Amino acid sequence: MSKNYRAELVGAFGNPIDENPTGVMEEAAFAAKGLNFRYLTVKVEKEDLEAAMNGVKAFQMKGINLTIPHKVNVLKYLDELSEAADIIGAVNMVVNKDGKLWGENTDGKGFLISLKNEGVSVEGKQVSILGAGGAAKAIGVECALAGAKKVVIVNRNQERGEDLVRLIKEKTPAFAEYIPWDSTYKVTPGTDILINATCIGLYPDVNSKPDVDYDTVTAQMVVSDVVFNDPNTLFLQEAAKRGAHTINGLGMLVNQGALNFTLWTGVEAPVDVMTETLKREFGL
Ligand code: NDP
Repeated sequence: MSKNYRAELVGAFGNPIDENPTGVMEEAAFAAKGLNFRYLTVKVEKEDLEAAMNGVKAFQMKGINLTIPHKVNVLKYLDELSEAADIIGAVNMVVNKDGKLWGENTDGKGFLISLKNEGVSVEGKQVSILGAGGAAKAIGVECALAGAKKVVIVNRNQERGEDLVRLIKEKTPAFAEYIPWDSTYKVTPGTDILINATCIGLYPDVNSKPDVDYDTVTAQMVVSDVVFNDPNTLFLQEAAKRGAHTINGLGMLVNQGALNFTLWTGVEAPVDVMTETLKREFGL
């Protein structure tokens, strides 16, 4: 019987990347499904991205995740983009389809699945998002494409906030509005879903919370955080005190990883294994 000693390769390119736990989660999933895949966590400097993407082709890797600072710069090395990635203008994952590199953004889709798993749909809802960076953009566009009625963007930097609002208005059927974040934010009336898509609260900044008047959070709201380390953020604790339905950032992380797993392998992802692995990594 002939043996195959060659594993299929996927991985992540980024910098900083040493503390990114995605590889542990994906490798656990490959093992659970008996797949001979390896996930390489690779430090790639900004100026080395072209060489690294040539490496994806040269090594016939099945695909790659992109993280800081490569999510936008990688576009020029790709052959095709998904609709959402094209609108968002950034990708977090690439599939190598027989030598053609196809880019997708699964951050926002992973977020929507984490809401769905909690029985929450964005259809017809008003979604208010703190932040206008990469995560906010992916979530805002996917919520709008999934039928949210209105997306409110609350951001310090006006240009970034207004750019995202314009993008949502021009490229999706949803209405969008920019609110400057120059003083304590009072949650916009009519908000059904409030999302922290900033890095406030991310380890080691765990004692910080977004500048929000938490008494304007109501028990009818769903409140979600993209920060997953530590997942029990002060933002969510404040919202829970007001009776809101809170959803932490682990679900988004697991579900974007599960989508990536399936896009690379063609196999349904073992989401439970991935969740348990991540929780173990975070000591939960
Ligand atoms: P970016 O750097 O692209 O954007 C950061 C955003 O946060 C900007 O809008 C910035 O505002 C805002 N911000 C930062 N600090 C403050 C502050 N002190 N006050 C007000 N606003 C602030 O980062 P990303 O969008 O890539 O990442 C954001 C977070 O999302 C990170 O914590 C990351 O870990 C998390 N994330 C989680 C994922 C998951 O799967 N759970 C997936 C991807 C990201 P301004 O424009 O004014 O500078």
